[in-house]
Amino acid sequence: MKKIEQETGAVYAGECGWEALDTIIVKNNFSKIFVLTDTLTNKLCLPYFLNKTKNTLKSPIILKINDGEENKNIATCLNLWETLSENNADRKSLLINLGGGVVTDLGGFVACTFKRGIEFINVPTTLLAMVDASVGGKNGVDLGVLKNQIGIIQNAKCVIVDEEFLKTLSDIEINSGAAEMYKHGLIASEEYWDALAPFNYSESKDITELIWQSILIKNEVVTEDPTEQGLRKTLNFGHTLGHAIESYCIKNEGRKRLLHGEAIIIGMILAAYISSEITGFSKNELKKITSILLLKYKKVRFEISEISEIIDLLVYDKKNSHGKINFVLLNSIGDCSIDRQVENQLILDSFDYYKNFGKL
Ligand code: NAD
Repeated sequence: MKKIEQETGAVYAGECGWEALDTIIVKNNFSKIFVLTDTLTNKLCLPYFLNKTKNTLKSPIILKINDGEENKNIATCLNLWETLSENNADRKSLLINLGGGVVTDLGGFVACTFKRGIEFINVPTTLLAMVDASVGGKNGVDLGVLKNQIGIIQNAKCVIVDEEFLKTLSDIEINSGAAEMYKHGLIASEEYWDALAPFNYSESKDITELIWQSILIKNEVVTEDPTEQGLRKTLNFGHTLGHAIESYCIKNEGRKRLLHGEAIIIGMILAAYISSEITGFSKNELKKITSILLLKYKKVRFEISEISEIIDLLVYDKKNSHGKINFVLLNSIGDCSIDRQVENQLILDSFDYYKNFGKL
C-alpha cells in the first residue's frame, strides 16, 4: 500500500486511492461534485473513473475542455467558472480533476479561484501528471505562449494515482512524463537516477516502484519548501531553457511542437553542460547523462536565429528576480545549486554541445 498521509496534498497510489476517495466523499457533505475532463480523458478515462467511484459518487456533473497545452489559458478558465456558476456550485462543492498536467494545473487554478476557493482532488491520468504536475499544489495557466505565468500555490485535498490510466497513453506521452522522473533523479538521488537509466517502458511496464520514488522525491521537496523560497527551485532543473524552448515551439507555427517533457530533456542537457562549466559538474557525468538521454529522446535541431529567440524568452522565466535569470545547476548527480547566473555565450555553447554530441 502506497500512501503519503498529510493534512493537504495526501497522495494515494493503487486501490487504497479509490478507498480514500470513497471515504472523503462519504465523510464530506459536498453540495455538488464536478469532474473536469478533457476531450481524451472524457473518452478514455472517465468510464473507468466512474466505475471505480460508483458506490459513492452519485450523478457528478461532468465538465469537458479541449485537450492540449494551447487550451491551458484564462479563456478556458472563464468558461469553466461560468459553467460552475450556472450549475450553482457553491463553496461546499468539490472539483475532481481527471486528466494530465493541463487538466490538473488548470482545474486546480479554477477551483482555487472560484468563490475564493473550493476543494479539489487530482486524479492524474498521464505519467507526467502522476509523478509531477498533480503533486505539490502548483496550479495555473499560460499567458499567451508564456508558460505558467498566472497561478497559485495550493495543495489538492488529495491525489489519487492509478497506473491503469497509463494503458491508453501513447509512448511519446510516456516518454514526456519520464523526463520529469529523470529530473527527480538528477536533482535529488543518484540511486534513483541509476535505477531509471536502464529502464525501458516499452519493454517492461513494471513502473510502479519508479513512479512512487518520483512522487516521494517531489513530495519531500515541496513539503520542505511549499512556496519555493529555496529548495523547491531545484525542481526547475532543465526548465529555464526547457520552458523557453517549449514556448518558442508553440509560438512558431512552422515549428514542430514539443511535448513538455521533450523540451525539458533538452533543457536538462543544456543545463548539465552549463553546470560542467560553472559548478565543476564532472565532464564524465555530463557525457554519461547526455548519452543516456539522447538514446531515449531524439535530438532536435535549432538554427542559430532560433536559439537567440529562445534566449530572448528567458526574461519571462518565473525564477527571475531583479532582472536576473536564475538557473538551477548540477553539482553532481543528486545534488544541485540554485540561483546561478549564466552568460549568454555559455548558453550558446551549450546548444553547440547538444548539437555536436555524438558526432565524430
Ligand atoms: P496533457 O495534460 O496535455 O496530456 C497530454 C495528452 O494526453 C493530452 O492530449 C491528454 O488529453 C492526453 N491524455 C491524458 N490522459 C490520457 C490517458 N490516460 N490516455 C490517453 N491520453 C491521455 O499534458 P501532460 O504531459 O500530462 O502535462 C503537461 C502540463 O503539466 C504542462 O502544462 C506543464 O506545464 C504542467 N506541469 C505542471 C507541473 C506542476 O507542478 N504543476 C509540473 C510539471 C508539469
